Amino acid sequence: MNYKEILETVYQKIAPIENVGELATYIPELATINSEKFGVHISTVANTNFGLGNFQEKFSIQSIAKVLSLCLAYKHLGESIWDRLGVEPSGNSFNSLVQLETDNGIPRNPFINAGAIVIADILISSLVNPKEDLLNFIKSLSKNKDIDYSAKIAASEKSVGYRNVALCNFIKSYGNIYNDPEVVLDFYFDLCSLELTCEQLSELFFFLANNGQTRQGEQILTKSQSKRINALMQTCGFYDESGEFAFKVGLAGKSGVGGGIIAIHPNQYAIAVWSPKLNKKGNSYRGMRFLEEFTTLSEQSIF
Ligand code: GLN
Repeated sequence: MNYKEILETVYQKIAPIENVGELATYIPELATINSEKFGVHISTVANTNFGLGNFQEKFSIQSIAKVLSLCLAYKHLGESIWDRLGVEPSGNSFNSLVQLETDNGIPRNPFINAGAIVIADILISSLVNPKEDLLNFIKSLSKNKDIDYSAKIAASEKSVGYRNVALCNFIKSYGNIYNDPEVVLDFYFDLCSLELTCEQLSELFFFLANNGQTRQGEQILTKSQSKRINALMQTCGFYDESGEFAFKVGLAGKSGVGGGIIAIHPNQYAIAVWSPKLNKKGNSYRGMRFLEEFTTLSEQSIF
């Protein structure tokens, strides 16, 4: 499969389409991004590493980072993490509170904000220096180690983060947050503020396309754990648009309100796309269109 050629064809087709949608204005710093940015990078198991457009420019990966915190918690604590949260799609928006009441403070899955906040709490309880340890874990997965949190973006989100404050406190009222909510939220905002390029992202997530193993042969997660993370991305990675992403794209994927998407074709590739304008569900409009064309033209999807 000549992924490079297909990528070039799809890029030329999608780059000029009408760039529909809105920036994530609810986080002031994200409202200042140039909405015309568009980058893509693929890392294949057959060792094609190729990017187009703004693929070497850093952007705020936001909820894509929830996959990385989940992987670290899963690596350290194994299946016991599922006592604290579920593995079902929520069918609701990423920041919804509604199901927590009927579910007694157990978030439906690790990719909605409620679930990622519980994972943040789990990491705080089990790591000595959660912020540093998470960053070191991420750096260990990447060739290019120039990766960091953005204090500016974290502070910007914190200044208006009322919904996440509500979520964290509400979950704590059911006994499913063990640490001080303020500490948990600070870690959550830091997590969401991570900045990476498309190139770094696809290299970093390569292990999920490679049965849990990095290109250098290090086993990050077991084969079974890696399969399960991909299953969660496929069923829950786009919140209440996960069905649509499976229907139109057919890959395991995770989006973020910075306009990034990481998608995995197990045993084939990891691909990262960035285009900041979001559709009504908070997912990158052009990023989804790009991946839809990509799996259509390559006639390759997990289905
Ligand atoms: N930091 C964002 C929030 O909590 C992440 C949301 C997202 O990327 N979907 O609202």
